[in-house]
Amino acid sequence: MLLDYHSLLLALGVSAACLMVTLFGTWFSRRTDSFLLTLVISLVFIIAGIVAYGSYTLEAGLIRAALAYSLLMAGFSVIYAASVQFRKGGAPWKRSVSITFLNLAIGLPLISAGLDGLGFIVMNLATAVLLLGTGIQYWLARREAVVPLSGMAILYLMSGLSFVLCAAVLIHDGEMVLGQAPDNWAENLNIGVCIAGMTGIGALSLALHQWRLAAHHRNEAMTDSLTGLLNRRALFDRNGSRRLGASTAVIVFDIDRFKAINDQFGHAVGDMVLKIFAEDLAADLTVPHAVARLGGEEFALMLENVMPGRAERVANDVRARFAAREILIGDEVLRCTVSAGVALGTAEGYLFEVVLNLADTALYEAKRAGRNRVELAGHLRSIAAVDSRTSA
Ligand code: GH3
Ligand code: MG
Ligand code: MG
Repeated sequence: MLLDYHSLLLALGVSAACLMVTLFGTWFSRRTDSFLLTLVISLVFIIAGIVAYGSYTLEAGLIRAALAYSLLMAGFSVIYAASVQFRKGGAPWKRSVSITFLNLAIGLPLISAGLDGLGFIVMNLATAVLLLGTGIQYWLARREAVVPLSGMAILYLMSGLSFVLCAAVLIHDGEMVLGQAPDNWAENLNIGVCIAGMTGIGALSLALHQWRLAAHHRNEAMTDSLTGLLNRRALFDRNGSRRLGASTAVIVFDIDRFKAINDQFGHAVGDMVLKIFAEDLAADLTVPHAVARLGGEEFALMLENVMPGRAERVANDVRARFAAREILIGDEVLRCTVSAGVALGTAEGYLFEVVLNLADTALYEAKRAGRNRVELAGHLRSIAAVDSRTSA
């Protein structure tokens, strides 16, 4: 054979160490993806396990076998826990520790009873289950980043299967007492698959990290940082090229005399008022909608599938609720009001921007007419007038 088993084991150890350093660096740069740190810890166990196993293959002994078994089982348990942490969040420690102890409770008695062959079968099967479980976790989470996560899932599944083969060969040979490390074609295949898998998983973990970073930036560019609502750019990104039909409404809100609130109570209180309004704005809406902060103290609410008159009622409800709200600042009570302009698309379809401008004009009229009120855009008012004349 071109490379002997020990060289392969060394290669596996080295690639695990490189992966560990890379993942640690990746985690360290942002410290948000804590599953990466869990993976680093799993690799510490795996590398120590590989060293212990290597020394066992050179000179078999009970202590070395038990040590290699324990370290590798701990490593694979933590790998599995990291995948659950990735998919569901939460801390991985309880899961890691309980799975490790379960495996130790099964395997160590066998090894100390001299049934090392059986011990290796258990180890291979347990590792296979953990790696297959890990693959399944990444597979279930693949929607977030299809390419890296599906790739990782497949590599974990392949590595898991190579452990199944190792167990199968040992079971087939039926040697429950080996007195040395198993040495057969499945072991050689397994180590090759693990080296390839480890390298591939390393590369894909980095790709996944980049993918998440890009999504994070994309999201940040679309979100208003104060209120968490969509920002103006996001609203235009989503609707800029749309033509709005008669059942789609755009309502623009602008808090009244907001400058005075800032002047009297300070900018921080102003910010708090903005947050409160943002939270209240769509609090109990049942129709499909989008809410955005257009800038300053101006907000837009888009409603889809609304019957005639509904958008006005929604706008008026928001207005009335906000006017009734008492905001406590120390022992002072702050009351604010908001004005709104409502516009709808038409059967032939108005461009989004046109409807937004109509709503803006209506808002301006609401301000002129004394604030704390809702106004309809001009073309709606003429429709409303025709409606009331025909129904009169
Ligand atoms: P009107 O009733 O006509 O709307 O009067 P107004 O005072 O609300 O309108 P104006 O546009 O004159 O003032 C808006 C103020 O909003 C001015 C600006 O300092 C303040 N502002 C804009 N963005 C923010 C923000 O993010 N936080 C706070 N606290 N204030 C802001
Ligand atoms: Mg204002
Ligand atoms: Mg304004």
